[in-house]
Amino acid sequence: MAELSSMSSAERLLWLHGVRSPEHIDLETIAAAHRAKVVYRQLDGCAARLVASADRAVISVAADDNVGRQRFSLGHELAHWICDAARGSFRCADSDIGPQNAEAKTIEANANNYASQLILPDYMVTPWLGARAVSLDLAGALASEFRASLTASAIRLTRRAKAPTVIACHDQTRLRWFLRNLSFPQDFFVSKQLHHDTAAFEIAFGKSSGMSRPKRESADRWFSGPGTYRREVTSQSVRLPDASVLSLISLN
Ligand SMILES: [Zn+2]
Repeated sequence: MAELSSMSSAERLLWLHGVRSPEHIDLETIAAAHRAKVVYRQLDGCAARLVASADRAVISVAADDNVGRQRFSLGHELAHWICDAARGSFRCADSDIGPQNAEAKTIEANANNYASQLILPDYMVTPWLGARAVSLDLAGALASEFRASLTASAIRLTRRAKAPTVIACHDQTRLRWFLRNLSFPQDFFVSKQLHHDTAAFEIAFGKSSGMSRPKRESADRWFSGPGTYRREVTSQSVRLPDASVLSLISLN
């Protein structure tokens, strides 16, 4: 039984709206209950926006984004409306909105953190995961169950993994972003470029597509740091819609 007192504020909002299973997470209904109207339309120069006036708001979400991304954007603007309403209206750029940017102490990071909990609330994610082993396959299953993006789902699994784990996003030339869980060693650093012997490299350069199988390999293909050549990791990679590569890497 979920404990209201231990929930995040986004989880409490869902709980008080009677949400008890993933298919009940209806962000538009929650928006309507908070006097915010949601419209999907072409947006120039931003991914989502909130126009507030007195006690009402209109949230615009980019019509050409995929469903997982639209839901995250809506959750992000709801956070601004519910938590930051005193600050008025927001125009949020593509780079402001994303589950990988939830740790800094900024309004945008807070909104991302809130959106992550609206879409993947721990009180439902925890029992759903049970004792299953963390992988990108499991992230894909979590994403489809909760209509979340694969990236948001993989980030959640990384944080919850028992093994020291990193989620990293590379493109052909560089590391775009990464997150590590609390048990990951502080003196290991994710390589700035993909190693040519990894499945991620093949995916980035179009030599293979879709999702690789989990693979054991030397940690120094992924990390620099003391003794990485003596450690092993299990890695798995997938191509994202923007042609970057998301990799889940756990130290064995
Ligand atoms: Zn924002």
